[in-house]
Amino acid sequence: MPALETTPAPADGPLIDTFGRVGSDLRISVTDRCNFRCTYCMPAEGLTWLPKDEILTFEELTRLLRLFVRLGVRSLKVTGGEPTVRADLPTLVRMFREAGPDLDISLTTNGVLLETLAAPLAEAGIDRATVSCDSLLRHRFSEMTRRDALEKVLRGLRAAEDAGLTPIKINCVVIGGTNDDEVVGFARWARETGYEVRFIEYMPLDAQHAWERAKVVAARTVLERIGDVFPLVAHGDGAEPATTYAFADGAPGRVGVIPSVTEPFCDSCNRMRLTAEGQFRNCLFALQETDVRGPMRAGASDDDLEALLREGMWNKWAGHRIDHPDFVQPARSMSMIGG
Ligand code: SAM
Repeated sequence: MPALETTPAPADGPLIDTFGRVGSDLRISVTDRCNFRCTYCMPAEGLTWLPKDEILTFEELTRLLRLFVRLGVRSLKVTGGEPTVRADLPTLVRMFREAGPDLDISLTTNGVLLETLAAPLAEAGIDRATVSCDSLLRHRFSEMTRRDALEKVLRGLRAAEDAGLTPIKINCVVIGGTNDDEVVGFARWARETGYEVRFIEYMPLDAQHAWERAKVVAARTVLERIGDVFPLVAHGDGAEPATTYAFADGAPGRVGVIPSVTEPFCDSCNRMRLTAEGQFRNCLFALQETDVRGPMRAGASDDDLEALLREGMWNKWAGHRIDHPDFVQPARSMSMIGG
């Protein structure tokens, strides 16, 4: 349910909602296009891309980022679709870096183009990379992404390390009966590589609406399975949605969990999203968006746009309702939102 609050959003201070949560982490989707077709995200074919003129230009994206920085955003994730398929991404990153010299800027990518892009992206201003990888088995990776690209992704990871896009995080969506038998293998890999492998609970955000509750593997279960083989100790300050653990024996690497379904962290959520075509979303699961592109292209001033963003954040609901009977899946899939 959207918040019923009718008082206007504050005219100054950071972006805040009626529950007192401050938006300080922004995800900007730079394209809706993707070169993978992950089964839990997109159909094999038939997803229509946005026409080019509907996608925000580099100048529009940077203008909005500058506003967000003015409003207190401290970290930026560049995402998509697959962000690396946006032509000339390093130029855009350079513009982002100029707009936010002190921003923590990371890239969320499937990694398949990092072999050539890691160095130019690091040079342009990306600090860190998060690479999605759901299986370390070639045949399963191919089945899940519909691309036979595991080797290329592993080479991309090495390029990211060489370029200094560290610490490297791995996003692994765990789906019951598909790849949940690999969680211990992923933990072993974290110990060997020093990566932080974050296990994400499967969420109802797939374009096909084929999500099943029964296929969600609870973060708790993942941690128990790993802990039985490699005892874990809590690590970090808990400010991130991924609860992070180190290995009790002092081995390198970390494991983390993002328990969006079984233990939602809406109460402390600081995330906001801007879609590739300029819709502001105050929640991954939001059913309402704030159109920023329309007013911007109609000549809105920075102050007008700031007021729009403030209003958009102010109306954030208490939290998503995946486990409630009245849950409604957003019309957009993860690739159209920007994960
Ligand atoms: N293409 C980039 C990538 O692969 O990281 C960025 C966009 S992708 C949509 C961002 C993240 O969302 C990926 O880690 C992906 O696995 C995750 N994701 C997509 N659909 C999901 C779903 N239904 N449940 C949980 N995570 C999902």
